[in-house]
Amino acid sequence: MSEDTIQQRIRELADHINADYRERNPLFIAILNGSFMFAADLFKNLDAAVEISFIKVASYEQFSSTGNVSNLIGLTEPLHNRDVVILEDIIDTGITMEKILEIIKDLDPASIEIVTLLQKPEALKVELNIKYCGFEIPNKFVVGYGLDYDGLGRNFKEILQLKD
Ligand code: 5GP
Ligand code: MG
Repeated sequence: MSEDTIQQRIRELADHINADYRERNPLFIAILNGSFMFAADLFKNLDAAVEISFIKVASYEQFSSTGNVSNLIGLTEPLHNRDVVILEDIIDTGITMEKILEIIKDLDPASIEIVTLLQKPEALKVELNIKYCGFEIPNKFVVGYGLDYDGLGRNFKEILQLKD
């Protein structure tokens, strides 16, 4: 996926979000590390009174992708009565996002929506209402534009599929 394709789609997502959140003051919660580039580029195209906070997800087991989310590190803002938009790089099984939603719902926000740059519909294992999605992609491992393979590749401007 080329840089142009990504940036063009981000502008479209931003147009939708700008229209939906006009006159509101949403708080974006970006999930690090993978979402840092998407968060930056999306944010530059938003024109409402938007705020952003960056958090990390801690797992019970290191390196697990089993959705054992125990804690959201860095979440210091009160979310009570806020319009929250959770910002992710990619939703695969959706288990991570489901756990994040559970924790955030407990903090009593006025609303919660999800924006993700990528999602793999074939891999989704839970029911998620993903309001804003950049691209639906096949169930393949991708790197670049913030997404890593073993720590590397986050710096690529484009998104690439890892060789099978
Ligand atoms: P889920 O809980 O939805 O299965 O997994 C979400 C997390 O797995 C993402 O936030 C990301 O860190 C990682 N992940 C899932 N698919 C990919 C992929 O294709 N490439 C990379 N780099 N990470 C992925
Ligand atoms: Mg992620």
